[in-house]
Amino acid sequence: MKVICVGRNYADHISELNNTKPSEPVLFLKPDSAIILKNRPFYIPDFSNDINYEIELIIKISRLGKHIQMKFSHKYYEYIGLGIDFTARDMQTDLKKKGLPWEKSKAFDGSCFVSEWVHKSNFKDLNKIDFNLKLNNNIVQNGNSNLMLWKIDELISYISTFFTLKIGDIIFTGTPSGVGKVSKNDILEGFLENKKMFNLKIK
Ligand code: MG
Repeated sequence: MKVICVGRNYADHISELNNTKPSEPVLFLKPDSAIILKNRPFYIPDFSNDINYEIELIIKISRLGKHIQMKFSHKYYEYIGLGIDFTARDMQTDLKKKGLPWEKSKAFDGSCFVSEWVHKSNFKDLNKIDFNLKLNNNIVQNGNSNLMLWKIDELISYISTFFTLKIGDIIFTGTPSGVGKVSKNDILEGFLENKKMFNLKIK
């Protein structure tokens, strides 16, 4: 399986990193080796002094598809969850400056945390899902899918133009503002419409 991530999908996060608003979605991939195994903590790697959390709504693909028309996108996923796109920000900033690919800073082992899943029938409107992230019991990121520049169905259609979507693939839909650094012994907790989805320890 693969993880397809969307960058710069919330206007407020684009401005906090001084990025420009893209004319189409920014995509990058994480390999399956990036996923944190169930009930394991996140270990800060030695190669970075600035690992950032990025809370994101995530979608699990339930059907094989390519060139999916937007009006059919909803048939390709059943479950929604929360993920953290851990980013070695110092390394990413350096790679961006040099015009090089981001993979080392975004796709390293442990850079992909995936929560439990909730069936989409639990949400009244998929384009109005509230979510937030607490760091040591303080809310640091607040998001709502209605603030996404490209909505879930648009993303699925767009992504499938380039990458065949397979059952079990996961889409990270981008992070709202409030990203920040993690330190040893921090606790991250994610909430989807007030339902606690995870508790992750930083080591
Ligand atoms: Mg991200």
